[in-house]
Amino acid sequence: MADPKGFLKVTERELPKRRPVPVRIMDWKEVYEQGDPAQLRRQAGRCMDCGVPFCHQGCPLGNLIPEWNDLTWRGEGRAAIDRLHSTNNFPEFTGRLCPAPCESSCVLGINQPAVTIKQVEVSIIDEAFSNGWVQPHPPARLTGKTVAVVGSGPAGLAAAQQLTRAGHTVAVYERDDRIGGLLRYGIPDFKMEKRQIDQRLAQMTAEGTRFRAGVDIGTDITWAQLRERYDAVVVATGAMVPRDLPIPGRDLPGVHFAMEYLTQSNHAVAGDQVPGQLTAEGKHVVVLGGGDTGADCIGTAHRQGALSVTNLAIGKQPSEIRPVGQPWPMHPTLFEVQSAHEEGGEREYLVSTVEFLHNDAGEVRAIRVAETEFVDGKRLPKAGTEREIPADLVLLALGFTGPEQQTLRDQIGLPFDGRGNAARGADYDTSLPGVFVAGDAGRGQSLIVWAIAEGRAAAAAVDRYLEGDTRLPSPIQATARAIAV
Ligand SMILES: Cc1cc2nc3c(=O)[nH]c(=O)nc-3n(C[C@H](O)[C@H](O)[C@H](O)COP(=O)(O)OP(=O)(O)OC[C@H]3O[C@@H](n4cnc5c(N)ncnc54)[C@H](O)[C@@H]3O)c2cc1C
Ligand code: SF4
Repeated sequence: MADPKGFLKVTERELPKRRPVPVRIMDWKEVYEQGDPAQLRRQAGRCMDCGVPFCHQGCPLGNLIPEWNDLTWRGEGRAAIDRLHSTNNFPEFTGRLCPAPCESSCVLGINQPAVTIKQVEVSIIDEAFSNGWVQPHPPARLTGKTVAVVGSGPAGLAAAQQLTRAGHTVAVYERDDRIGGLLRYGIPDFKMEKRQIDQRLAQMTAEGTRFRAGVDIGTDITWAQLRERYDAVVVATGAMVPRDLPIPGRDLPGVHFAMEYLTQSNHAVAGDQVPGQLTAEGKHVVVLGGGDTGADCIGTAHRQGALSVTNLAIGKQPSEIRPVGQPWPMHPTLFEVQSAHEEGGEREYLVSTVEFLHNDAGEVRAIRVAETEFVDGKRLPKAGTEREIPADLVLLALGFTGPEQQTLRDQIGLPFDGRGNAARGADYDTSLPGVFVAGDAGRGQSLIVWAIAEGRAAAAAVDRYLEGDTRLPSPIQATARAIAV
């Protein structure tokens, strides 16, 4: 039935059948199951120890994958964690959360399933933590130099650990009330429980890294004051300015950025009081945008008891098999099925959101969407294909436009590049002496493995700046990127 504007109006009765949200009680614990040790050794034993290990190339950290695969196969867990730690400060994060580009470039993957490298990685570090093999490595001597790291996500933490171990006195400043960046307040516990962060912070504290949570640099302390107080500053503030959708109805109550919702949920799961918490309980939830953020909203909404969860993406559904244009050993864009997708909900592609619609109380009640078509190289809503999807809670997971700029520009004149990221040179340095940039603040919203790689590489650059030379390793991939800049 056409409405006065000619749009197809869907009544309650005509709504497409949605897959019911699972009725079993879903908890917030990690979804992964403990791997079978025998199966894991068999997997590690499938590694062919290739003459040219393309998996090194695939991993931004340059992890020594064939070496720790072999040690795992031999049952030498202690040696395996030493090899793994030599290139990766936090395998407990990457082993759970990395999309594993290494597996896309595993040579076995040419004609059979790749070695489950990420699974081997997480098993090595979990065994190491449970056996007490992860011990603090405080520096043998202090250099007397001081470094401020701003931002406590994986980039800031990796830089801080490397610099502390090199003997510098390092303080990590974080505006949130707890340390961890997106690992803490973006990523939900069902993907990684927060104890994974806490046990690593215990090691870092014992090594001498100082943590200052609840301090907003630019407000509580200016960037200029920080530069005066410290010999070097690492900007690792992430890229968390969300991409908006400025269409009619955007300001309606019930339409929110995904990070607002996820942060509140993470606080609540941590046991904090969240007055007026946004929750999906008893609501039809629509998540706009795929990707990790969208998937995290889906899993969170199901756990809160949503009536339905619909995930819309404007692009085409990616292929389930490696596309011809992205041959081995490239990391292909594939149709991703994360645990949150397996738990329920609907995913729709080639859908453009045209308008948010409200009820009598002025709250969002539905979204009007349309199929898309290409016009002049742009994907636009196709006239006559409009329909409504019921929505009491709409979450915008449309990506991020870059880091916050204002206080960095105003207080120390830090330049930003054409894409809105902090501008930096080949050595993670900026035009301001002693100011370095690592992680998403410099490359835009990316991955944890890249943040760790950049934190390590920036630490090596800071050490060189302070000491004239460095013995800190710099990941091969991060260095390759820096040289290419
Ligand atoms: C919801 C979500 C899920 C994700 N899931 C995955 C995943 O499964 N796998 C994956 O590889 N990647 C994932 N990512 C991307 C990944 O989390 C980021 O690429 C990574 O955390 C970037 O690390 P970072 O250290 O550069 O910055 P962040 O982790 O963003 O940390 C930056 C920190 O700086 C702090 N800060 C900013 N400004 C100031 C200031 N002025 N003073 C003090 N502190 C400040 C912020 O509060 C924040 O804590 C996800 C991202 C999101 C948003
Ligand atoms: S960090 Fe990621 S890319 Fe590197 S070995 Fe681990 S899973 Fe693979």
